[in-house]
Amino acid sequence: MKLLEKIKKQVILTQDGSPFVPQYPGGIDPSRCNGCGECVEICPQNCIELKEFEDRKVAVITKFELCIGDGFCKIVCPQDAFL
Ligand code: SF4
Ligand code: SF4
Repeated sequence: MKLLEKIKKQVILTQDGSPFVPQYPGGIDPSRCNGCGECVEICPQNCIELKEFEDRKVAVITKFELCIGDGFCKIVCPQDAFL
């Protein structure tokens, strides 16, 4: 079996032994975001930044290509702003 095929068949397990299912964010709803910055702080890949939007700051995913799908941003958001 070729190396790529082997890698495709591998499953990453979480600490409780269940398969890891990536939680990629689909975006951020600016009408819900209050600019608290919690998601910016927790993202291990620095994918999210606060940007000016209609005279206030809102979070924007600026480097989606670096996202590893850990889902931390969705978990910490107090506004349920992640799509
Ligand atoms: S899922 Fe993880 S890596 Fe991706 S944007 Fe959210 S916190 Fe960052
Ligand atoms: S955690 Fe939620 S409310 Fe706070 S900046 Fe991020 S998207 Fe906005």
